[in-house]
Amino acid sequence: MDFTYDFLAPPKIVFGWGRRREAGALGRGLGTRAYLVSGARRLAADGVIDELMAALRAANVEPIPLAEIHGEPLVDDVDRAAKRLREQHCGDGDFVLAIGGGSAIDLAKGAAAMATNGDGASVRDFLEGVGRGLAIERSPLPLLVMPTTGGTGSEATKNAVISSHDPTFKKSLRADQMIPRVVLVDPELAVSAPPNVTAQTGMDAITQLIESYISRRARPIPRALALEGLQRALPAIVEAVTNGASRPAREAMAHAALLSGMTLANSGLGMAHGVAAALGVVCDVPHGLACAIMLPAALRVNREVAMSELAELERATAEARRGELDDPAAADAFIERIESIGLASGIPRRLTEIGVRADHIPSLVAQSRGNSMSGNPRDISDEELTNLLQQML
Ligand SMILES: [Zn+2]
Repeated sequence: MDFTYDFLAPPKIVFGWGRRREAGALGRGLGTRAYLVSGARRLAADGVIDELMAALRAANVEPIPLAEIHGEPLVDDVDRAAKRLREQHCGDGDFVLAIGGGSAIDLAKGAAAMATNGDGASVRDFLEGVGRGLAIERSPLPLLVMPTTGGTGSEATKNAVISSHDPTFKKSLRADQMIPRVVLVDPELAVSAPPNVTAQTGMDAITQLIESYISRRARPIPRALALEGLQRALPAIVEAVTNGASRPAREAMAHAALLSGMTLANSGLGMAHGVAAALGVVCDVPHGLACAIMLPAALRVNREVAMSELAELERATAEARRGELDDPAAADAFIERIESIGLASGIPRRLTEIGVRADHIPSLVAQSRGNSMSGNPRDISDEELTNLLQQML
């Protein structure tokens, strides 16, 4: 591992059970008008959004609904929200507040950046690998983000994943200034997340922690954070899925997800995320589910080149003492444990179970070549990836 690094993280993180009640005071530190972006219908149904708006008003912050999102954000969603912010002449005293899963947070990050950049151009022109290659040069509107699923880690990253159906792509809008100003994590907000969402987002966080740890761009601070995250998440995920009201399990998963955002933002990812992006655009598979199903295969592909790192992960996270295992045995034990945790969380094993057919594979291979894949510990040829996906059907 190269001992040269930068490290980027949100300047203020507020974490704790029930601490959503501090949103008003935290918001007041950013401005007096809060443009709300929300996801997950359950939040409105449970009264969480009303409670949040009341807390903002009590702190003399005016809440203004900006957007609601129930799927992963599209170019049009970002353009529409940014247009509204520009029409309101947003500037000093205004901020964007996102409450929801990764989709709501990514939409808010995109809209906050596009409100002050591009002079009305589409976000598409700023996305990596498509459009005109424009760059975020002016500071986005400040962001206060409240993640509610315990999964994506988007609250701690400098990018927003934006999709399009025509043409088909899933690309990142990325800039250091896009990192949220304040992250407020209340693990209690995940209690009402259904088991499948908990499983998929939790496995996404675990995938992010592992892939960033073995990435060819791995760095020391994210590695330390990844170990902490995995030590918390691996023993907790099945409990969070099967007993959603468990406070310790929800705390562990929310904490691990937050750390996974910091690790991926600073160390990159790998093959599971590369293929997951393709599964999202080609077969409409939710991000966390795609990562979860690809993770064991990605670990096997990297077993030789990342053996000592996988062995380190086993020794750092196994409940029983595993000091006596040599590297190959420890790496194999880790891969097997990750696979069984996925199965116990209800993650399917085969791609056909998530709607993938043999004729999808050429497009999947072509669409896997993004920023994530470039962090994978070793190169994987199109032929090797094709064979691997065929075996997983
Ligand atoms: Zn992910």
